[in-house]
Amino acid sequence: MLLPQLKAFELLKKYNIDVPRMWIAQNTEQAVFVAENVKYPVVVKIDSPDIVHKSDIGCVRIAYNEDELKTSFISVMRNASKVTKSKNLNVVVQEFLSGYECIIGASYDKQFGPVIMFGSGGVMTELLKNVVFRLIPINESDANSMIEETNISKLANFRGKKVDLNNVVKALLAVSDLMQTEEIKELDINPMFLGERIVAADARIIL
Ligand code: ADP
Ligand code: MG
Repeated sequence: MLLPQLKAFELLKKYNIDVPRMWIAQNTEQAVFVAENVKYPVVVKIDSPDIVHKSDIGCVRIAYNEDELKTSFISVMRNASKVTKSKNLNVVVQEFLSGYECIIGASYDKQFGPVIMFGSGGVMTELLKNVVFRLIPINESDANSMIEETNISKLANFRGKKVDLNNVVKALLAVSDLMQTEEIKELDINPMFLGERIVAADARIIL
């Protein structure tokens, strides 16, 4: 079962992983209200157990103002209704984030048990193939070596931008801990934005 987005983010928060400001909206009025609280620009996304790859089908949009928000809301809903019969579709209105996109994943390998994955993320994850795997549980030095083995290690001093890689280590340890404690089949944080804050923008958790 795919966890609804707010539930997935709640679980990450419980393990001290930073999440964006966001809320659910079921109509444009609610979306406008949420966006005013979250502050523009916002990202509008579908939240449906039937839709795993949201942006592939036009179900992720950025809105810089109220007009754009209303059109984004309607187009995300319309695009979603082309692929699911579900009547009660929700939309998530989320804080806009910036930074380098990485992925933290975790799953069960038939032979090895729980494994954790880390690397370059975003919608190009499969293309970049810049990811590494470890068996769970990992310790601090495993987490550091995972970062070291990917392009992410170059980010610490890229163009004077501050990415505190210690916080990436903390996030990796948190996911390792979460996988050992909770009953979870699969988890994907993609993207996790690495900037001044390190924030999970998309969380796919399967129970
Ligand atoms: P999916 O992976 O289901 O297509 P995502 O939520 O990961 O949907 O969004 C797709 C892409 O949109 C992300 O890889 C990222 O580039 C961008 N994106 C998603 N959420 C945000 C956000 N809060 N701020 C900025 N960009 C975002
Ligand atoms: Mg994603």
